[in-house]
Amino acid sequence: MDFGLCSLVEYAIIAIIIVQIYRLIKADGDLTLMWAEKFGSKPCALSGDVVWITGASSGIGEYLAYELAAAGCKLILSARRVDELERVKKQCIMGGPLREEDILVLPLDMREFSTHKDAVDIVLKHFNRIDVLVNNAGRSQRAQWDKIEIEVDRQMFELNVLGVVNLTRAVLPHMYEKKKGHIVVTSSVAGKLGAPMSGTYTGTKHAIQGYFEALRVEGAEHQIDITLVCPGPVFSELLQHCYTDSKDKEFGQDMDPSTENRMTTARCAELMAIAMANKLDEVWISTHPVLLFIYLFQYFPWFARKIGKRIGLKRLAKLREGRGGAK
Ligand code: NDP
Repeated sequence: MDFGLCSLVEYAIIAIIIVQIYRLIKADGDLTLMWAEKFGSKPCALSGDVVWITGASSGIGEYLAYELAAAGCKLILSARRVDELERVKKQCIMGGPLREEDILVLPLDMREFSTHKDAVDIVLKHFNRIDVLVNNAGRSQRAQWDKIEIEVDRQMFELNVLGVVNLTRAVLPHMYEKKKGHIVVTSSVAGKLGAPMSGTYTGTKHAIQGYFEALRVEGAEHQIDITLVCPGPVFSELLQHCYTDSKDKEFGQDMDPSTENRMTTARCAELMAIAMANKLDEVWISTHPVLLFIYLFQYFPWFARKIGKRIGLKRLAKLREGRGGAK
């Protein structure tokens, strides 16, 4: 009898371990995020919050707007293409809880630093507060490291780093005064490791991680939360507007659903909204094998670098495009 009970407990433990391993293999986010999805707050916890999303005219920012609109957040949608922002606004209102005046379309160029303070004033005039700033606008890159013109480095740092820092500095005094605020930043897997054929992009995302880790410490005194979001390959317009090695040339390629194993934009936005609702510090959003790589880089960097060199540039480049690293 004793033996039987013991085996039952053992079988239960083995079953739990198998289920957990299966879930780990099937995961499309880090463990904390997966836990929050199952047991944590849902995006509707953000209902009524005023959320400003940059880069809301396409891709991850667009789908995050849909998630947050459904959750009942009031939104400010920013990017350069106003017609696309109006399209996103219409879609947000359709069938959801928001009314016309709950969404402000606010054209903004992240590289035009001098316009950022005025933009903040317009938002405060309309909503009287900003609860969450989602720094999502950004462009990637496909280029060989040694061929990149320094002007490309300059423009990418202006967009992916300095624009983000400048806009955040324009918003922070308001949040400090309110003693409450949440800054979300769309970083990247490239903010955690070296992404091949994206030297400048990797530099910008590492820089952004550093800037906001420092703010996490300083901002804590003012009850400011920081969420760094690191997605792996996700379907969006990213490759169409990618920088290359020259400022006069865009990469201009579409993503190909038939060959690329990227996460859907909707799923990435769903997980991002969960990370926001639970105020998680940093989340990784990706399927394997990229997710496994981030774990290796985080906990066993020496080993991960060794594997990276062994796998070789071609396979790594395919991996980062979500092509499984075969051939
Ligand atoms: P998209 O190209 O679909 O979206 C980029 C957004 O940034 C657009 O709304 C674009 O709007 C905006 N943007 C570009 N330049 C400027 C500018 N100068 N001023 C203001 N807004 C600008 O790509 P994603 O949705 O994929 O990219 C969103 C974020 O996600 C980026 O920061 C990217 O680095 C990050 N990311 C994406 C991954 C992916 O695989 N897709 C993986 C990891 C991170 P407009 O052109 O109208 O100005």
